Amino acid sequence: MTDRLPPGSVIGILGGGQLGRMLALAAARLGLACHIYDPDADAPAKQVTSRATTARYDDDAALSAFAAAVDVVTYEFENIPTAALDLIETLREVHPNRRALATSQDRLMEKTFLNGLGLATAPFADIPDEDALVRAIAEIGTPAILKTRTLGYDGKGQVRIADAAGASRASLGDAPAILEGRVAFEREISVIGARGRDGSVACFDPGENVHEGGILHTTTVPAAITAAQRTDAVLLTARILTELDYVGVMGVELFVTERGLVVNEIAPRVHNSGHWTQDGCAIDQFEQHIRAVAGWPLGDGSRHSDVTMENLIGDDILRLPDISATGVAIHLYGKAESRPGRKMGHVNRIAR
Ligand code: AMP
Repeated sequence: MTDRLPPGSVIGILGGGQLGRMLALAAARLGLACHIYDPDADAPAKQVTSRATTARYDDDAALSAFAAAVDVVTYEFENIPTAALDLIETLREVHPNRRALATSQDRLMEKTFLNGLGLATAPFADIPDEDALVRAIAEIGTPAILKTRTLGYDGKGQVRIADAAGASRASLGDAPAILEGRVAFEREISVIGARGRDGSVACFDPGENVHEGGILHTTTVPAAITAAQRTDAVLLTARILTELDYVGVMGVELFVTERGLVVNEIAPRVHNSGHWTQDGCAIDQFEQHIRAVAGWPLGDGSRHSDVTMENLIGDDILRLPDISATGVAIHLYGKAESRPGRKMGHVNRIAR
């Protein structure tokens, strides 16, 4: 493919949730079209694009036709079945690359990779069976968290372990798991970083995250961190991106501790904690990702305002009449049905 896709080109997106929807809206501003692949005919991203495939991820004919209809492929969630990517990769370039996806899909690989770069993570151990759990608790101590190695999100697939007595991996079934020591953090921050095809890196200002029940509740910029912590956070994100030869946007979640920054996890995609960029920067995380995968130069993601992003989860959406009277920027995802824990939209409140 050419280095830089001209306006009118088509970006294929695997996954049609809210992240795909906001990517498609950003692409449209640049004169680029998006083709959404999702098994759900009414997926949020399909409501804002004219090109879509409704098929399962194991439908080889549909995957091949999708790849043939687009100029480059990206994705908006990290749990894409491996076989689907194997097929698409024979037909089209996929960004971010396979190593980045594989590394972030598996907590064990992810932490091993990060430690290999000299970056701190929570202490961890592979837990294939109950014996390994007993040994790991003796070594790592409690409190600790047992997590599935793959397919976890928003705090799902996690068991908190307060003490060794009665600890068991039974509730995770056969799923491969790791034990993580609980990190005593002062705050949680994240960096949304982007890397272009030419190897250039741009990071947004770190945001400070507050979770409720394992789900992101608010992100506030600027984060209450020192200049040195800010620089450290941005530099370590750039190292991860460069080491992975990454193209696109990545979310890097960090714990701020007394002894420095500890990486919690990396997400090979635009990230919920980067939604503030839509109203805090001239060029937001979605445009930055589209620019990167389309081979365009990265944009200037400098922050022009202080912002608090608040997620609207489940019945929060019932507050919409009140919220819409307060002057915040509203971003809704077009989901017909609200369920507990379901992300329905978010608002960005500009503080200054
Ligand atoms: P995760 O799905 O692994 O990102 O976990 C969701 C949230 O749980 C994190 O944002 C933290 O608030 C908390 N958490 C997860 N792992 C740890 C840990 N090792 N130490 C302390 N808090 C954690």
